[in-house]
Amino acid sequence: MRPIRVAVVGAGPAGIYAADILTKEYDAAEVDVLDRLPAPYGLVRYGVAPDHPRIKEIIKALGRVLANPRIRFLGNVEFGTDLKLTDLQHHYDAVIVATGAATDRPLDIPGIDLPGSHGAADFVSWYAGHPDVPRDWTLDAESVAVIGAGNVGLDVARMLAKPADEQLTTEIADNVHRGLAANRAKDVHVFARRGPAQVKFSPMELRELSHSPSVDVLVEEDGFQIDEASQSVISSNKGVRLVVDTLLKYLEATPTGAAHRIHLHLCHAPVALLGEGRVEAIRTERTQLDGTGNAVGTGSTSRPRSKPSTGRWATSRRTCPTCPSTTPQVWSRTMPAGCSTSTGWRSPACMPPDG
Ligand SMILES: Cc1cc2nc3c(=O)[nH]c(=O)nc-3n(C[C@H](O)[C@H](O)[C@H](O)COP(=O)(O)OP(=O)(O)OC[C@H]3O[C@@H](n4cnc5c(N)ncnc54)[C@H](O)[C@@H]3O)c2cc1C
Repeated sequence: MRPIRVAVVGAGPAGIYAADILTKEYDAAEVDVLDRLPAPYGLVRYGVAPDHPRIKEIIKALGRVLANPRIRFLGNVEFGTDLKLTDLQHHYDAVIVATGAATDRPLDIPGIDLPGSHGAADFVSWYAGHPDVPRDWTLDAESVAVIGAGNVGLDVARMLAKPADEQLTTEIADNVHRGLAANRAKDVHVFARRGPAQVKFSPMELRELSHSPSVDVLVEEDGFQIDEASQSVISSNKGVRLVVDTLLKYLEATPTGAAHRIHLHLCHAPVALLGEGRVEAIRTERTQLDGTGNAVGTGSTSRPRSKPSTGRWATSRRTCPTCPSTTPQVWSRTMPAGCSTSTGWRSPACMPPDG
């Protein structure tokens, strides 16, 4: 039987799983997995934060695939530089390109290029020990804004807020531990353009945010907006429901007075980074859900947020309209008789005992 020779460019999970499927489906398949880096596993090795061993466990499964004698890993081979498509076409019957997404999507707001503003890919590459980036990173800001409400944003916020020594049980590199030990950040503010039912956090990643005893996770009430479209996705999607429930828990929790805080700001879009010569503050615009799962600007911008506060930034505390509770209204999914709000959510304080 003539072997079918396949080149897979990129040794991240996509490339390695492609090699696995090819060798399982075709007895004649022989696969070379090429990567520009000397070591395989892509962003699982050089992206996922070191304190997430559970996610990094996937490396074991990927390693078992690479141990297949019909699959070869060839590191230090850059597609486009060391080898062109025509070279691969000459030597292989098929080529699969699985090179991932290594760069950030640009954010087009004034001030984004000021010193002190960094794409997450650079910071993540530093703390994950990526060989392409410098070894040192100066973490001298006391208050840091993280723009974007997905798991990468959570990783970045957690790495900035958690004390370096809590990372010593992980595979963190020495230079990264030293850099984090000198970190001055006390308050990390994560900004999400849309509301609690639209954020892209995974339930488990969000829950893990509060696992450090040195970090309080604070959800700001202003922007915790749940419209009808949100309610419908909450009732139909378990993952979204778990995320919203966790956000609610954070919103209702009493801060412990921990030395570090992660603040989650929902329905706040960044509009400018401000500063003379380097980032000193961020200006955000309050957004409003538009009923389709998207958010539109309200025109109401924040005062520039800069220096850390010891607690939450000013939020508009509301009271439940039908009971004397002073806890934030909004937050429950079933409505008791006589306690209605425009969103259909309500204060835990006016829930019936069996609620
Ligand atoms: C900070 C962060 C946290 C994450 N956390 C999670 C999480 O908790 N759970 C989860 O499921 N996912 C998480 N992810 C996402 C996950 O890592 C990616 O979805 C996954 O790695 C994508 O796999 P991939 O194979 O498509 O790309 P990659 O992992 O990016 O692999 C692409 C490979 O291609 C190589 N390559 C690129 N260009 C070339 C070239 N020209 N020539 C040769 N080789 C090349 C790269 O070196 C790399 O090894 C996270 C990602 C990041 C950045």
